[in-house]
Amino acid sequence: MKILFATSEAVPFCKTGGLADVAGSLPQALAKAGNDVEVILPLYQRVADNWKDKMSFVCSIEVPLGWRRVYCGLFRLEQEGVTWYFVDNEYYFKRDSLYGHYDDGERFGFFSRATVALLNALEFMPEVIHCNDWQTALIPIYLKDECVRWSEIRGIKTVFTVHNIEYQGRYGKETLEDLFGLAPGWFTDGTIAMDGDVNLLKGALMTCDAITAVSPTYAQELRYAYFAHGMESVIRINGGKVYGVLNGLDMAAYDPAADKRIEANYSLKPKKGIETMEKGKAVNKQHLQETMNLDVNPDVPVIGIISRLVSHKGLDLVCQVFDEILGLNCQFVVLGSGDWNYEQFFEAKLGQYQGRMALYRGYNEALAMKIYAGADLLLMPSKSEPCGLAQMIAMRYGTVPIVRETGGLKDTVHPYEAWCGAGNGFTFADYSSHDMLYVIRQAVDLFYNNAPAFRKLQEAGMSEDFSWPRRAEEYNNIYQKICS
Ligand code: ADP
Repeated sequence: MKILFATSEAVPFCKTGGLADVAGSLPQALAKAGNDVEVILPLYQRVADNWKDKMSFVCSIEVPLGWRRVYCGLFRLEQEGVTWYFVDNEYYFKRDSLYGHYDDGERFGFFSRATVALLNALEFMPEVIHCNDWQTALIPIYLKDECVRWSEIRGIKTVFTVHNIEYQGRYGKETLEDLFGLAPGWFTDGTIAMDGDVNLLKGALMTCDAITAVSPTYAQELRYAYFAHGMESVIRINGGKVYGVLNGLDMAAYDPAADKRIEANYSLKPKKGIETMEKGKAVNKQHLQETMNLDVNPDVPVIGIISRLVSHKGLDLVCQVFDEILGLNCQFVVLGSGDWNYEQFFEAKLGQYQGRMALYRGYNEALAMKIYAGADLLLMPSKSEPCGLAQMIAMRYGTVPIVRETGGLKDTVHPYEAWCGAGNGFTFADYSSHDMLYVIRQAVDLFYNNAPAFRKLQEAGMSEDFSWPRRAEEYNNIYQKICS
């Protein structure tokens, strides 16, 4: 199939969050599966010069945006079977950050409008345009608006992926015509209207051909107010076109057998020059304990947290029973930054648990990898988690996850069942600190008293296939379904 993937960020060009990882991996996996794939994204100042040097200029056009006619350049780059297109407008994109500007609505309105206007300039006319989050939410609407006059684009289908429903692109009613150049009918018929405002996300959910959420459980959860940030009724009335597809993991970038960022490489299957899982993890654990000033002791379980320290990551549960957790004879490592109250809480506990607790406030990828490789358990008690990456990375490195059953955590971590040894981690359902404590206790107990069963959990995690080709197949099925 011919697919155009529209995104506001993508690895390796520019990244602020998980969307960039998806946009960096899924197009390649789709191309490897035999599709023709193009990606379109803004040409930010932040895109490194070495990439810019490799791009070639395709064309420039004028994009109509309300009463304005705006310059739009198009650059092109070939990379691993995928054609990357970059939309150039220095007024909108030559800024020091990707988002957070007073005119973000206008900037991404321009990008969406330009994507449709440029369809003739691309290598092929796509059968499907795959849009992501509110920044590309206007594309399905502009397509419908334009196709009245432009028959060639009339058959194009659209997929819209919700990575995080919290961000919706909400603007005053007056922006509809003035900023986005849309006729009042889009608002008066309710397509793009929500609570008296223009809501770009709603417009996309109403007009696209398929909605995907980044995990099957998140797709279900979005039907409820607790998770949907006001969008639950819109998801429900469009329920027949909602799908859940888990994000994949770049299995080559996160490979304990080859990762240069960790102290010792290891694998489940015997490999020449590479440690076994037990030996490799033991070396990494000792290195982690030394690096973080923890007591060096192979026999004590190390529990890690690698997370933004924000409320929806469930950290209030951890704070509520922190002393009980440390009372279980374990070590605890926290890597993260975020809300002041959580940072202060962990900081204050350091003195109380010298040698048993460690904290690094900030973002540190090298340390994150040391924790993934050296810890025994990774705690992720999230209130909500659209997909979650950390639990997948942990499993890949033989670190057993302890998670709350929400979103992608529920879809990737299967609870340990003592009677048959099934599972790849520990889970709890209710948002309750004592339910969390119960499974942490179970995990620590298993570590101390049943090493073969604990090892089996590690092996189960390391054997999971989180690869992108699997996910690409699921997206392919959705593309085919909406095009048939
Ligand atoms: P979210 O995207 O909501 O932050 P995910 O679990 O999907 O949560 O992805 C978080 C990613 O960011 C993981 O790869 C994790 O290792 C990484 N990460 C989070 N906090 C830090 C940190 N302080 N330092 C290094 N890496 C971090």
